[in-house]
Amino acid sequence: MTNISVIGAGQMGNGIAHVFAQANFKVTLIDVNAEQLAKAITTINKNFDRQIAKGTLTEADKTNALNNITTNTDLASGVSNANLVVEAATENIDLKLKIFKAIDEAAPTACILATNTSSISITKIAAATNRPQDVIGMHFMNPVPVMKLVEIINGYATKKEVTNTIVELSKKLGKTPCVVNDYPGFVANRILMPMINEAITTLFEGVAGVAEIDTVMKLGMAHPMGPLQLADFIGLDTCLSILKVLHDGFGNPKYAPCPLLVNMVTAGKLGVKSSEGFYAYTASNKDLIVSDAFIK
Ligand code: NAD
Repeated sequence: MTNISVIGAGQMGNGIAHVFAQANFKVTLIDVNAEQLAKAITTINKNFDRQIAKGTLTEADKTNALNNITTNTDLASGVSNANLVVEAATENIDLKLKIFKAIDEAAPTACILATNTSSISITKIAAATNRPQDVIGMHFMNPVPVMKLVEIINGYATKKEVTNTIVELSKKLGKTPCVVNDYPGFVANRILMPMINEAITTLFEGVAGVAEIDTVMKLGMAHPMGPLQLADFIGLDTCLSILKVLHDGFGNPKYAPCPLLVNMVTAGKLGVKSSEGFYAYTASNKDLIVSDAFIK
């Protein structure tokens, strides 16, 4: 396996391109938005520099890795030579079904089709293609260059050889694969999102403020980041989409998204990527500043 096409150059897509390029795979990074592609290359550059500063990468490694990445705004030509496609576009079922239909038409027959979806059914995505046996979940964690886990999700039809290939590939990237089955939220988000939703509900009901909720979870439960900061980091739109999938998939009201989360997403307050969520983010300030909306 040499050629990897990554679809979507957002925060996950740029990280996925980064780790494959560093492991010496040829990467085609694809996005409908050319500006997003340029931004992704800048981010990858900066993240390689951070590794150099830490002494875990050399300048020569960086040059080599960057040379492994090309960008493309056209999906069909971008996947035409791929051995593996990893889709990391926006968390939206209709969009993903459309993308998988298009990949299925344009990618070589031997190509494995993986999705980085946080929660959408792999079985449903696979059903949009004529090769459901070759479709699998390859769920990287954020930030991809740092986090060790890859949650690998078998769809109903995924064949064993495909699972084994993705397990071995994840190890080549220096990651630890963990194979699970295809039910809403898989394992990671089935457990994480109810906690984040409960933290937002705790804020919504006025039990405590943003900083207090995050401090309790950081210092009390030894979490490296509080749940509200983590929600900002993941993207509040992504959190809302995952909760909707859990709510629809299990039909259980315990997964209903908190109205405050719904309101924030409607207002365009998406967390780090929109510069404001529970906290306000500026390029120059590294301290956590609670958003004005939550200062009484
Ligand atoms: P993002 O909003 O940062 O990026 C999404 C990218 O997809 C954008 O650059 C957008 O232009 C692009 N896109 C939209 N439509 C496209 C199309 N038709 N073709 C090509 N590109 C298209 O989102 P993200 O946080 O990177 O999430 C991407 C995927 O990864 C989602 O499925 C999400 O659930 C999953 N994921 C996210 C996290 C996280 O912490 N954010 C963690 C694990 C998995």
